[in-house]
Amino acid sequence: MHKSLCFALLAFAASLAAQPVTQLPYSPSLDLTSMDTSVQPCQDFYRYSCGNWTKQNPIPADQASWDVYGKLAFDNERLLWGILDRAAKGGAGRNESERKIGDFFQACMDEPSVEKAGTQPIDAAMQRIARIRSLADLSKAVTAGHADGTGSGTLFSISGDQDLEDSQSVIAFANRGALGLPDRDYYTKTDAKSVEIRAKYVAHVASVFELLGDAKSAAAAQAKQVMAIETELANSMLTRVEMRDPHKMLHKMDRRQFQALTPSFGWEGLFPALGIESAKLVNVTEPAFYQALEKALHVHKIEAWRAFLRWNLIRDASPYLSSVFVNSHFEFYSKYLRGVPQLQPRWRRCVRYTDRDLGELLGQVFVAQTFTPETKARTVAMTKEIELAMENDLKQLPWMGDETRKRALDKLHSIVNKVGYPDKWRDYSALSITAGDFGGNVLRASQFEDRRQLAKIGKPLDRGEWGMTPPTVNAYYNPQMNDINFPAGVLQPPLFDPKMDDAPNYGNTGATIGHELTHGFDDEGRQFDAQGNLKDWWTDKDAAEFERRAKCVSDQYSGYIAVGDIHINGKLTLGEDVADLGGTMLAYYAWKHTTEGQDLKAADGLTPDQRYFVGMAQWACGEVRPETKRERAITDPHSPLEYRINGVVSNMPEFAKAFGCKVGQPMVRENACRVW
Ligand SMILES: [Zn+2]
Repeated sequence: MHKSLCFALLAFAASLAAQPVTQLPYSPSLDLTSMDTSVQPCQDFYRYSCGNWTKQNPIPADQASWDVYGKLAFDNERLLWGILDRAAKGGAGRNESERKIGDFFQACMDEPSVEKAGTQPIDAAMQRIARIRSLADLSKAVTAGHADGTGSGTLFSISGDQDLEDSQSVIAFANRGALGLPDRDYYTKTDAKSVEIRAKYVAHVASVFELLGDAKSAAAAQAKQVMAIETELANSMLTRVEMRDPHKMLHKMDRRQFQALTPSFGWEGLFPALGIESAKLVNVTEPAFYQALEKALHVHKIEAWRAFLRWNLIRDASPYLSSVFVNSHFEFYSKYLRGVPQLQPRWRRCVRYTDRDLGELLGQVFVAQTFTPETKARTVAMTKEIELAMENDLKQLPWMGDETRKRALDKLHSIVNKVGYPDKWRDYSALSITAGDFGGNVLRASQFEDRRQLAKIGKPLDRGEWGMTPPTVNAYYNPQMNDINFPAGVLQPPLFDPKMDDAPNYGNTGATIGHELTHGFDDEGRQFDAQGNLKDWWTDKDAAEFERRAKCVSDQYSGYIAVGDIHINGKLTLGEDVADLGGTMLAYYAWKHTTEGQDLKAADGLTPDQRYFVGMAQWACGEVRPETKRERAITDPHSPLEYRINGVVSNMPEFAKAFGCKVGQPMVRENACRVW
């Protein structure tokens, strides 16, 4: 009792402290106060580098985890909050961009209006579902949901994506539909915790039906029907590890062949309703899913399908409706599944929704305020240094034959570097944003984005597009575009620190650049060629050697515990683990190259090499709630933070040398893995 009161007071203090800012707070990319020097670096390098960070930065009550990336994202959001607050209050003098982001944010912040609206934003869609009496009605209602933004993941999802075998052309993709639990494994696993989660989930679904006005017994019966349908569909879905093999996702067929997988659904109405009637070719990522859907349409009664569609609709919309729905969604998905005690403050949720729905309008202001031409020049130059390091590495890689080596170099030289923000900003003029209509704005934005994606089908590919908004604290490699992308949000202190010297900057941001670059050559990325096509460019001998080396990494990580008695799934995390190792090595070589001939000095009791490694480790300082660790062990292709550091350095002789670590100590693996 006492403890929870104390917790509530602390949380209250924290919410008082959160204010919009006009400038990002500064923290250095190598922070001595984050280290715990009572831990020996050769025993546990992660705790040595980050032990005090976690002590000084407990997980806030409204977070599932808290780390250097999350804290920077929070600071970025406070800056965006200030921008949005000014745009909301700007009055008649605003330009159209300011009006859009300002009105969107203000409508979201206007709790009384949202409260008064209740379920109004989805009432029409609910009525559509209530009228379903046949499979033909069901097809019409699902089609309407896909077309108007209320249900584009319901039953299945249709998108416009690059043809896996011809990256220049964009074709229709037919993908699996959404489930209510975070992964198909939640429906198939038989351990006690999974059984408990399913029981809690069914109870949650029933409670939401009650909120919609159903009687207790009817709500419970419908929740069971939802679970039965979802379980059947989940059983037909590929696992996350299977989905890492792009060949398993490649099934191109004409419309007739596609429609024959699920003949009982009214496809004839769907394609025109989505504006893609001319799309003749469809890549069906999981044909078995569509066959299971056909079977399910006949096995389950029409009232079960009404329950399923209602649940999909209310689940997706809950975060944007009145507080009873927001809170019940939070209680199950955040509090129970992820262990988060407290809902995020409204300003934070509203900033994130604005970033999601109008990201390249909001991002323009963010970039102007935070990303100087000097930072861009320095990070572009660093990217080129890392690429040069990879070129040198490839040229002398002992295990690769000349034929594969030539193609690997060709692929490396074809990689496009995108740093900071897009050259051309996205056009939102066709999206209408209305003051005081939060639910309507979210639905229109969702429909606008669906249409934008589908409109790419059959058109020339836009290689300038970004898959993340500028304030995002993250980075990615896209194998079909063959590009690496670093938003302005991730190139800020303490990750990239213009005030610091090269050692921690190469260790931190340099290793991130190397990480994305290495994704082009990990278990998944290596299957795509320089043009982004799924095409094998490896000799059999070199491919076998890659597999052998990659297995060393997946075996290493499978040996680590993620949480409780759950091991890391080393096959799921393989791509990220290979990228972490390759990225840290490449950045190290690049740093050595760029500082060649310089007289690097020790500082604060650390040698230059030690500063490189501590700077590297400190991107990952953080902690994760146990419930969230459990979820991530199933869904997250990244290993837990401590292994993303200790797993890497224990494979690097350069690290052992820098800290004088000896064979037999935990941070030195006897049979070290090395891929790139
Ligand atoms: Zn990655």
